[in-house]
Amino acid sequence: MARRDPVVVVGAGLGGLSAAIHLAGRGREVVVVEARDEPGGCCGTARTGPYRFDTGPSVLTMPEVLAETFGAAGEDLESVLPLRRLDPFYRLAFPDGSRLDVVAGAQRMAANVRDLCGPAEAARYLRFRRRLGKLFEAEWSSFIDADMTRLRGMARPYALLKLAAAGGFRRLDRYVSAHLTDERLIKAHTFQALYVGLPPQKALAIYAVIAHMDTVGGVYFPSSGGMHAIPRAMATVAEKAGASIRYGVRAERVEAGASGVTAVRLDGGERLPASRVVIACDLPRAHGGLLPEAAGDWRLRRPRYSPSCLVMHFGIARRPPDHAHHTLHFGRQWAETFDALAAGRPQPDPSLLVTSPEPDDTAAPGDRPTLSVLEPVPNLTSGADWDLLGPRLEERLLGRLADLGYEDLRSVPRMTFDPPAWARLGHSAGTPFALDHRFRQTAWLRPAGRSRRVPGLHFAGMHTAPGVGVPPVLISGRLAAARILEDSR
Ligand SMILES: Cc1cc2nc3c(=O)[nH]c(=O)nc-3n(C[C@H](O)[C@H](O)[C@H](O)COP(=O)(O)OP(=O)(O)OC[C@H]3O[C@@H](n4cnc5c(N)ncnc54)[C@H](O)[C@@H]3O)c2cc1C
Repeated sequence: MARRDPVVVVGAGLGGLSAAIHLAGRGREVVVVEARDEPGGCCGTARTGPYRFDTGPSVLTMPEVLAETFGAAGEDLESVLPLRRLDPFYRLAFPDGSRLDVVAGAQRMAANVRDLCGPAEAARYLRFRRRLGKLFEAEWSSFIDADMTRLRGMARPYALLKLAAAGGFRRLDRYVSAHLTDERLIKAHTFQALYVGLPPQKALAIYAVIAHMDTVGGVYFPSSGGMHAIPRAMATVAEKAGASIRYGVRAERVEAGASGVTAVRLDGGERLPASRVVIACDLPRAHGGLLPEAAGDWRLRRPRYSPSCLVMHFGIARRPPDHAHHTLHFGRQWAETFDALAAGRPQPDPSLLVTSPEPDDTAAPGDRPTLSVLEPVPNLTSGADWDLLGPRLEERLLGRLADLGYEDLRSVPRMTFDPPAWARLGHSAGTPFALDHRFRQTAWLRPAGRSRRVPGLHFAGMHTAPGVGVPPVLISGRLAAARILEDSR
């Protein structure tokens, strides 16, 4: 029966691929339709001459979630996508010239904190680290890894009380500064608020778990092929498990009748009959014509989007000496710079994430060293004129990189992604970071993982819970698959 009722997944980003692997791994027939010519969505790749860039995520955390995804199709992460743990995970460079390498192991890390901030702060750091671990434990199964579309996912008073007792509903900046006193260390554990699109003074402390994921759990990188190797491996595993992936095909309309979803119509006119569909593409855009009107979700009535980013990729002659894979250069300003972003203005003195992977000759012989820089910028809802603002910010970024001691990057091959570019790639409001994670767009208040009014219509990806980022979207795909498998029983 199941074999004659394929599930159609719209979008071969990490969320859609995860859903496909979980479904195909359990024997369901799956067809993935992807508008682009390759898998990955945000986790994309681009090339100019001998330089290959990863155009999306660079900080890979929680490899166990990837392992679980491959495991759903009987595959082993170690064999399909060997990863290496970075050392350091990040190098944090402060404007006073000091720096902190975030490294593996409590004692090794405490030693670095001691060197930077003294023994009393190192002791506080160790206590804080244990608190972070407890918060993470309280949160993981009840809040991040849980299906918020089910009643039982919502009503867990004990879990919520535990989370509240662990401080999860305080503001992130206050939570961290209640434990640590050195401004630099506080920044090291609050900058991650940007990953959920909010200033640390607005984000809930539950998002301190991101600091646990990256500063304690570690940051990883595929041994070969860069970050884009992730969706490639996922697509291979999905196909091996029986899923069919159709590239260069855009879903135009999900058709539904009284009993729910009936088919997905493609741009060429073809109709794929289906009683279960997983929408794993930009959700606000999907509500602009792809989805039946009845599928409207009240949670999207007043969407608040994350800030966007300006990313510049450079092809360079050689990797900067003594350079970490990830260096975060903090700006001098902090609260003011977040306030500007929240108000839709460019940050006066942004912090920059500079990524310079070791050149990888194994995946593509001849690949040359690259350097990528990410600056948070307002999304398109600010109404800024990017024809004027874009060149100005690019110029400022180049100047800042020169001041930070990078080689002259003005004359090397480069590629830039700004909010209009993200919009052209299909991201609402010109941000690839989706809805932000303010309280009213978190967990059960984020757009639902299934439509209540159109049976058979499911959602995955960064606009749904648990949210933005590689591990969360992988989880969202698994949750969508689990609901479909359960319904079909
Ligand atoms: C510059 C950048 C840096 C980032 N940094 C990090 C990081 O360091 N760590 C981290 O964890 N996360 C990071 N992220 C976020 C992370 O990459 C995303 O949250 C995640 O990849 C989103 O996956 P998704 O499947 O939800 O959506 P997407 O990747 O957007 O995939 C959606 C797919 O649907 C396709 N599609 C759209 N409409 C249709 C249609 N009608 N028919 C068929 N196909 C369609 C699109 O082509 C796309 O392939 C970053 C993202 C970017 C862009």
